[in-house]
Amino acid sequence: MANDRTAIGVDIGEYNLYTACPATIPDDTGAYAVDGDDVCAELDELRAQAAALLGSDYGRETIVAYVRDRRDALLEEIDEAAQTICEYATQSADPVLVTEDSNHETDLWAWLTDPDAHRGTAWLIPAAHRRLRWVAAEYGLEVVTVPERYSSQECHACGVIGARVQSQTFHCTNPDCHVETIDADANAAAVLARRYYPGRQCAYRPTRPVAPADRPAVLADGGRREHDA
Ligand SMILES: [Zn+2]
Repeated sequence: MANDRTAIGVDIGEYNLYTACPATIPDDTGAYAVDGDDVCAELDELRAQAAALLGSDYGRETIVAYVRDRRDALLEEIDEAAQTICEYATQSADPVLVTEDSNHETDLWAWLTDPDAHRGTAWLIPAAHRRLRWVAAEYGLEVVTVPERYSSQECHACGVIGARVQSQTFHCTNPDCHVETIDADANAAAVLARRYYPGRQCAYRPTRPVAPADRPAVLADGGRREHDA
């Protein structure tokens, strides 16, 4: 029965590569997050290096081999982060990991060579999704997906669509809700966990009209910023 299991929502992004949280955020420990600073910095560096190499006399095969080695090193770092998420999850009774149902293809070369490519949507976030599933399988952990729409915009406690007061802070606009401000990634992870349980999903649409300025930005690749959807 779904209700007997411990759903651990896992939000995936750039600021925090992984943020894991059950449906009710534990008062004592909060959410568990692995920051994405190092991986993002390495991706930025690799992009600059790839541009320099592609403009140099190095042959294409040499450049491709170099990029492959750097990619493998990045994947190893992502795997290590995913392992800590799985270790965190296995401390709960009968855990199940719950992620967004986003389904992007990884395209490292798009990020390296297309000036309009978005680091997260081009490679990092889809890669982090895939590696989490791979690593979770090694831990015998099930990974399920739930609809991602508004998962970063609704309050985990009351379901009302709130607001971002700063990029990493979520503010619940419902005066009757005990949540005022909360780490945005922890909120999103808790929302994903709640969506695992029957009857606790939100309607996946705002309860107030969305102003044009608040609408998700459409990216060059036609995808949407993961935190806006
Ligand atoms: Zn609320």
